[in-house]
Amino acid sequence: MKVLAVADSPTDRRLLDEAMTGLGHDCIAVEEGLRAWELFQNSGADVVISSWMMPDLTGDELCRKIRSSNQPYAYFILFCAKEEKKSVLEGMEAGADDYLAKPLDRERLEACLVAAARVTTLHRQLVGQQGELERLNRELYEQSRQDALTGVGNRLRMQEDLETIEGNVQRYGLGYAVALCDVDRFKDYNDNRGHPAGDLVLQVVAAAVRGTCRSGDAVYRYGGEELLVLLPGQSIELAIAAAERMRLAVETLEISHPHGNPLSVVTISVGVAVRDADIDGHGGIENVLSRADQALYRAKTAGRNRVVHASDTQ
Ligand code: GH3
Ligand code: MG
Ligand code: MG
Repeated sequence: MKVLAVADSPTDRRLLDEAMTGLGHDCIAVEEGLRAWELFQNSGADVVISSWMMPDLTGDELCRKIRSSNQPYAYFILFCAKEEKKSVLEGMEAGADDYLAKPLDRERLEACLVAAARVTTLHRQLVGQQGELERLNRELYEQSRQDALTGVGNRLRMQEDLETIEGNVQRYGLGYAVALCDVDRFKDYNDNRGHPAGDLVLQVVAAAVRGTCRSGDAVYRYGGEELLVLLPGQSIELAIAAAERMRLAVETLEISHPHGNPLSVVTISVGVAVRDADIDGHGGIENVLSRADQALYRAKTAGRNRVVHASDTQ
């Protein structure tokens, strides 16, 4: 183990150093409490053994500092003279694990270090398990917000992100646009090619749409064969251009579709709506989604494979 010994008496330092080294541990012996604290913060230690009275810090003060640090747990042993024994309780309350009375008894020290090794190992295991639990929690958090088929965000993530971005409209006047993409005649595709082939199309289409996005944009699975793209800070003109890139990206995949109209390939229709803080009547999330949906409906009735934007007069 890595041992930090703190004693203002040169004899105690030498004794501790010799005893620790003799027991096979790496020992650094220092004279001052503050120096020990400095070393501990930089390199940690498995065990700290400290005198009670030192010119700059008492043993319990050093122990409190060590307990408040974010270094791995160190087993803290007070090394005190007989007349200091009444301070042991104070030291233990400050966070010390054990104490050794002077003069140093090698066997008692060795026994103390056996407990130290057990306690520090347990602490390291606990920290490792906690880290693993936190990692799993983060993974679970991500998984619960991801669509399993396409890998884009799911409805939960979409709702959370929309609420955040809607808050920014209200607080800072930062607008956004949405593009609602729907695969054209997808039921026909499934009926002709089978559901598994349809699943594959959804994956490829989602990846193609995502491939056209800027880093701040986000894609979500809105429903069965519908994707919603959130475009923060986009004007209607830029959002229409972005939607046109999405439409073209899917068309140029050239996935053959027996009833694709008029190209015999899989296409998407896109409805675009913008949320502008300065326009009255734009309302909130529901309103912008409903306007995008109406625009999508018009794209469908106008012949599919096209982008239509929600005009504010309609
Ligand atoms: P339109 O051009 O008007 O959008 O026609 P459409 O056939 O795409 O629309 P409709 O709403 O009639 O059908 C949607 C189809 O999408 C039906 C459903 O089976 C399919 N679908 C929804 N989710 C999935 C999925 O996860 N996998 C597959 N393979 N198909 C899906
Ligand atoms: Mg649909
Ligand atoms: Mg469809």
